[in-house]
Amino acid sequence: MGRFDARVAVITGAARGIGFGTAQRLASEGASVAIVDLDEADAQQAAEKIELTDGAKAIGIGCDVSDSAAAESAIQQVVDGLGGIHILVNNAGITRDNLLFKMSEDDWDLVMAVHLKGPFNMTKAAQKHFVDQRYGKILNLSSVSALGNRGQANYSAAKMGIQGFTRTLGIELGPFGINANAIGPGFIATEMTDATAARVGMSVEDFRAAAAASNPVRRVGFPEDIAAAAAFLCSDEASYITGQTLYVDGGAKLG
Ligand code: NAP
Repeated sequence: MGRFDARVAVITGAARGIGFGTAQRLASEGASVAIVDLDEADAQQAAEKIELTDGAKAIGIGCDVSDSAAAESAIQQVVDGLGGIHILVNNAGITRDNLLFKMSEDDWDLVMAVHLKGPFNMTKAAQKHFVDQRYGKILNLSSVSALGNRGQANYSAAKMGIQGFTRTLGIELGPFGINANAIGPGFIATEMTDATAARVGMSVEDFRAAAAASNPVRRVGFPEDIAAAAAFLCSDEASYITGQTLYVDGGAKLG
């Protein structure tokens, strides 16, 4: 008996990294999963790699979450293909880092489109189903960068915006049996942080070692660390928790 038996979970940006790890964790506890990502072939290949429990399914859907029509269509494909929807994890993300005086308007707009409009589009499409069935779990990916990070004015603003979005979803949707929470990861070893290493001219190993050395628990995080917290917040054990952001960062922002 798994915590997500007979549940259907949609995870955006799940072809790799934290999204894939979260999809795998939910599937390991019984969920059917829809891997949503920009590239349909990548999403389908990732879906094929998910290890499922008996009777569960995994599908891959190509979708740019910042496109409202594509988001609406993706949610409908999930409902048609997997027989419903119970959990939405808004995880898709990008970085376009630069100091403010060098940051282009396009890089500001793109980060807002993926991190803020994307969750708005996906959540708006999913909430109809959640409200009708008086059940739903929404999990949004924020970041410790929401608290401020040099070179990330766009990303930081979007990730704090996600926290306000999450609190408002908690207020509006709570009466309908829907919980909305957020996770704020610290440094998680994925292609996103590997790309940052390249941008600052460090090897992946040195970049991770430096992050680990400055972290109270003396290690970097992995997608499994976020997936474990995500599974709790998307489970019925967390049904009295809503509107919250849980930092999963090894204590990075404690002081
Ligand atoms: P990642 O490895 O870069 O994976 C992100 C995925 O999102 C990629 O597969 C990417 O597809 C997809 N994606 C990008 N734009 C999309 C769009 N418009 N529509 C659909 N999919 C899209 O990132 P990650 O490190 O796993 O991060 C996942 C989430 O956690 C993000 O929201 C990120 O901001 C947040 N986060 C990460 C860290 C960290 O240290 N890694 C820390 C704090 C917060 P493509 O490959 O095609 O671009």
